Order: sequence, then structure tokens, then C-alpha cells
Amino acid sequence: MDFSPSPKVDAIRTSLRDFMKREVYPIEQDLRRKGFVAMLPTLKEKRERAKETGLFAAFIPEALGGGGLSLTEFAHMSEELGRSPIGHYLFNCQAPDVGNMEVLMEFGTPDQKERFLMPLIRGEIRSCFTMTEPEFAGSNPVWMGTTAKKDGDEWVLRGHKWFSTGMEGSAFAICMAVTNPDAEPHARASMILVPNPTPGFELIGNLSIMGDRGGDWASHGEVSYQDARVPLANLLGGEGMGFLLAQQRLGPGRIHHCMRWIGICERAFDLMCSHAATREIAPGKPLGTKQIVQSWIAESRAEIHAARLMVLHAAWKIEKNGTHGAREEISLIKFTVARTLQRVLDRAIQTLGGLGMTDDTPLAYWYSHERAARIYDGADEVHIENVAKRILRGYGIKL
Ligand SMILES: Cc1cc2nc3c(=O)[nH]c(=O)nc-3n(C[C@H](O)[C@H](O)[C@H](O)COP(=O)(O)OP(=O)(O)OC[C@H]3O[C@@H](n4cnc5c(N)ncnc54)[C@H](O)[C@@H]3O)c2cc1C
Repeated sequence: MDFSPSPKVDAIRTSLRDFMKREVYPIEQDLRRKGFVAMLPTLKEKRERAKETGLFAAFIPEALGGGGLSLTEFAHMSEELGRSPIGHYLFNCQAPDVGNMEVLMEFGTPDQKERFLMPLIRGEIRSCFTMTEPEFAGSNPVWMGTTAKKDGDEWVLRGHKWFSTGMEGSAFAICMAVTNPDAEPHARASMILVPNPTPGFELIGNLSIMGDRGGDWASHGEVSYQDARVPLANLLGGEGMGFLLAQQRLGPGRIHHCMRWIGICERAFDLMCSHAATREIAPGKPLGTKQIVQSWIAESRAEIHAARLMVLHAAWKIEKNGTHGAREEISLIKFTVARTLQRVLDRAIQTLGGLGMTDDTPLAYWYSHERAARIYDGADEVHIENVAKRILRGYGIKL
């Protein structure tokens, strides 16, 4: 295993670092003050500039108009983009679109690819993914209340979803719904494409997340399906394949998220070290002379380094064995990196003192918004349980 970046990855990283310094960091302060929606015209311009780099939707094969990067190559790119809250959005690599593109690429019919996938890759539209429901534990992916029933040549959808990221302003949703309640649990649900607007498919409102409702892509919607009708041809993959598609969707997605979190860690680490080196606690005595701050710095360095190697190893294993063959590694990185992220952000804020609580740096934004890292894409506890059970089974315990 050699995880050193290839000359190609080195060149990508250099070009992205330059782009972030020139185009992204200078608008972050405005973004925090004015909010995502007010900044949409500026963000649109920046996306056009991102296209000029040849790295727009870089994880998509070149034949479909993307950058053609392998999972490991894209992992490095994801780290660079993660240094800003809008890095992934500007390069059309943001959740949930990235997962939706991957599912459509693999399971979409030619017509679905033409109508839904291609405009998504070109960045002309956005999409959302509606699976989680307020009334059912999202941690149990085979348990939900939303149904899709056949009526003539249409599906009729009925249900209540929430945490549909980016529903506001999206052009379509992928809806997870029960199509056969009598099948065995893993074969009950299917994924169905629902254009937005469709009568009966409504945004009830954006959820207030730690005091922020956000807007457009930067929002999480509560959604209702009230007899929303779509053609039978909008079924994605086969009937009863919803759970399988959801698993496929999340494997590479966890590599993207984890490397994005490492990008956040690196930016936080950088802010922590620069502050420790320049903030004087007494004349001629910078904060970095204090042993406790040195300890935060060294511990953070070690944890980030370990986390990055774990994620690159998991990406390597997915490329070698497929998502199924890397299930343990995927679970391990999910909860390890999410926790590293919280610790590094916390230490960085502590080092910056009051400044760390202000919106003059991105730390406070990340501290509130990335708490969710331990909850989405499978709550940490679910991954921990899965890993432990797998290990214990090897010791003969029946679980
Ligand atoms: C910012 C954000 C964005 C999201 N985006 C989307 C999206 O775009 N589309 C979408 O469909 N969903 C989305 N989600 C929802 C997310 O997938 C769910 O929140 C997640 O699956 C957990 O489900 P739940 O919230 O129902 O928690 P529950 O399943 O009710 O779990 C609550 C808590 O119980 C504990 N727990 C659960 N299972 C176990 C176990 N086996 N052992 C021990 N403890 C356990 C965990 O601590 C967990 O946090 C998003 C969530 C967030 C926070």
C-alpha cells in the first residue's frame, strides 16, 4: 500500500489550494454575514470558475463530463475542498447530489440518466434524498412509514420525511418508500425519482438546526408526500432494491465525508497553530509557549494523521474489494474521523479563546453544523455496534 499522492494528485492539490486562496476564502466572511441564499449570484459565478479547472464533478467519469478521478484521487481532492464550508458545493461534489449521481450512474435507465443525471453532473440542477422520517428511527433503514402504491401506470407516494438536505430549490428527490410491505424487511422498499415540483410533494419548511434554518442547498427540509403521483418508469433500480441502493450510495460517500472532515481539521489546525504562534499572553510570550497548547497541537497532529491514513486505507480497500468487501473499514472511519473532527475543532476554539466563538473564523460555524457528523450517514453507535458484532462473532458469540 502506497498512500503518497501521485504527481497527478499533487498537481490537483496545488491547483485547488490556489483556487481556494484566490476565489473561496475571500468570500467566506460575507457568506457567514449574509447567508447562503443572498450569496447565490456570487456562488454561481464561482461555480463557473470552478468548471474552468476541469475538476467540476471530478468523481464522475470523463465520458459523462466529469473529471474522471478514482476514489483515492478524489479523496485527496475532498480534503482540499473541505477546508471551506462551500468547497464541495462550488465543485459540484456536495451531498446529497454526489450520492444521487452515483446511484443514477449505476442503476439509472438511459432515460433517467438523460433527464436527471446529466443536468446534475453539469451543475444545472440540484437534487435531494428523502429517506429519514420523524416518526421512525432512521438508524433502522428497513423501517419506515412512507409507501408507494401502483395505480395504473403511476406510483402514488404517501409519507412524511425530514432532514431532506437541499430540498429547497432542488429539481428532484430520490424517495425511499415501501413498495411491498409483505416482503422480507430488506426487500420492502424501493427508490423512486420524484420531480420537483410534483403536485402533492411539498416542502413543509426548513428545520432550524442549532439556530439556523439556512436556505437552498444549505438547508434541511421537512417534506410531505400526499398522494404525489409519478410514472412507474421513475422506479430507480428494481422493485425492492431500495435498501441495496442505499448501501451502495453510502460506501464511497463516507470516504468523501471523512476526507472533507479531515480538510476541516487541517484548516482548524492551521488557525490554532497560527494563533498559538502570534497571540501573546504576556509581552514576548506567545500562547504556543504553554505546554497545554503544545499538547493540543501535537495530539491534534497525531489524530489527523492517523485519521487520514485510515480513510485512504478504506478507499484503497473499496477500490480493491468493492463497498461490501470494505464494510468494517467504512464503519471504523465513520466514527473515528467524526470524533477526531469534534476534538480538533474544540481544541482550536479553545486556543482562539473569545475569537473562536465569533464568526470571524469558520470554526464556530463548523462547531455547530458538524456536530451532525456523529449522527448522519449512520449514527456512530450503529457503526460501533456493527464492528464489535463482526469481531465478536469471530470469537464464537451468537449475536
Ligand atoms: C445535518 C443532517 C443532514 C441529513 N441529511 C439527510 C438527507 O439528506 N436525507 C435523509 O434521508 N436523511 C438525512 N439525515 C438524517 C440522518 O440520516 C438520520 O438523522 C440518521 O440516520 C439517524 O436517524 P435518526 O435521526 O432517526 O436517529 P435515531 O435512529 O432515532 O437514533 C437516535 C440515536 O440513538 C442512538 N442509536 C441508534 N441506533 C443505535 C444502536 N443500534 N445502538 C446504540 N445506539 C443507537 C444513536 O446515538 C442515535 O444518534 C440528515 C441528518 C442530519 C443531522
